[in-house]
Amino acid sequence: MVSRVIPVDPFDLVIFGGTGDLARRKILPGLFRRFCAGQMPEGAQIIGAARTEMDDAGFRDMVAEAIREFGGGRSCEDGTLDEFLKLIGYQVVDAKGEDGWKELKARLNDGLIRAFYFSVGPSLFGDLAERLRHFGLADDDSRVVVEKPFGHDLKTARALNATLAQHFDETQIYRIDHYLGKETVQNLMAVRFGNVLFEPLWNAQYVDHIQITVAETVGVGGRGGYYDKSGAMRDMVQNHLMQLLCLIAMEPPARFEPDAVRDEKLKVIRALDPVLPHHIVRGQYDGHGVEPSYREDAGDPRSTTESFIALKCHVSNWRWAGTPFYLRTGKKLRARASEIAVVFKDAPHSIFGADAGRHRNILTIRLQPNEGMELGVTIKEPGPGGMRLVDVPLDMSFADALGPDSEEVPDAYERLIMDVIRGNQTLFMRGDEVEAAWAWTDPIIEGWQNRGEAPKPYDVGSSGPDDSLMLMHRDGRKWRDIRT
Ligand code: NAD
Repeated sequence: MVSRVIPVDPFDLVIFGGTGDLARRKILPGLFRRFCAGQMPEGAQIIGAARTEMDDAGFRDMVAEAIREFGGGRSCEDGTLDEFLKLIGYQVVDAKGEDGWKELKARLNDGLIRAFYFSVGPSLFGDLAERLRHFGLADDDSRVVVEKPFGHDLKTARALNATLAQHFDETQIYRIDHYLGKETVQNLMAVRFGNVLFEPLWNAQYVDHIQITVAETVGVGGRGGYYDKSGAMRDMVQNHLMQLLCLIAMEPPARFEPDAVRDEKLKVIRALDPVLPHHIVRGQYDGHGVEPSYREDAGDPRSTTESFIALKCHVSNWRWAGTPFYLRTGKKLRARASEIAVVFKDAPHSIFGADAGRHRNILTIRLQPNEGMELGVTIKEPGPGGMRLVDVPLDMSFADALGPDSEEVPDAYERLIMDVIRGNQTLFMRGDEVEAAWAWTDPIIEGWQNRGEAPKPYDVGSSGPDDSLMLMHRDGRKWRDIRT
């Protein structure tokens, strides 16, 4: 299957923080892959802008190296890289000062779409926004892209929204959550709203519970200092896991349009009950001297920041009343595996008797590795010897379904950047969504801070603290195995 590539309109994209880690690992290689796929129009220009002293040639060398290191994609030939580099320029700019802004403006073309990617720390968002307006680089059609973390709590998120709103309209602001750019996550909406099969069953009457797991094998490593001020709740749950929960739980929007989708997601967040303290388990990895423990990685022997969290929550509305949502994420776990599992209820009556055992349909949406979906259905075990039942997967792995072209499916960043150029905000978080998510997580965090709770230790390479298993066992349920 060959994917259909529709070129976008010509644009100027300025990447503030163009020499940084995110630009080198994700943004620039992603843009190159879109170039290879034929999606970059004639006249597109990509300008790196940062504090580092460098000229165009130096930046192009850096971009070429980043693409070689972080992946160019199968269809990109060597000569293509030279062509791509012709689109690239660099401008030294001080986000907090006056230097470089006039020169940057002079590089921009009149009449083209302008997008400004803030791939810098959030403390610079306000400075950049102000200078973009002050020096006349941005107009009312320009777009700004901002990265996580979007605030540290409700107060700081509100302040960031207010700062951006001084200079840009909400329709110009693209808050990235790269989970929303994943192929499977969008497929979740296609499966839910493009088929008659699932939606009638997608409610408390037929769904026993939902599990969302984002498990990582890496620790906090070099990011220890930053991570220790944040923890799994702020770094993963408040944004990525809640966004996934919203897409699973939301009502069908009338149209696949930015505000229609985001209105429905917002309603889900607002329908979330506060989480009870005994429905949350926090953990911290322990290497027992064989591998570094969290506290060593964080550089604080007394840190009480969590590197793991598991919680049970409820969406209090007609569709979901009584159906628990279990969320779990952590570092240094057994495997790198992220999935959403919709676990349906048992058949109301078994005609096959007790010997047939208990069987359930489970729809699994795999985010990584091997993006795809799997529907577990119950069939008769083949062969003689009576009616024995067995669960088999109806598997739709994208790699298999799309064959050799699957590598060409754009990754999350590529897709999202192209959406910015197209002016499509559907897969970006709106300001009120982000604030509502913080309004839900803030009391949870304050709760454990007030109680002075320390996280439970868990072994590196395990599935998290035993208490997280108990969170499910107490309800007569079980987490799915964390495996690749
Ligand atoms: P980084 O420290 O590697 O890069 C920061 C960039 O900002 C550099 O290019 C630097 O030159 C530039 N910069 C700093 N101060 C400046 C100033 N005063 N004027 C002009 N330029 C200045 O950071 P990063 O890891 O690339 O992260 C960038 C943003 O993306 C952060 O908000 C981070 O939280 C977010 N983010 C990063 C990742 C990642 O994987 N690295 C993932 C998700 C989100």
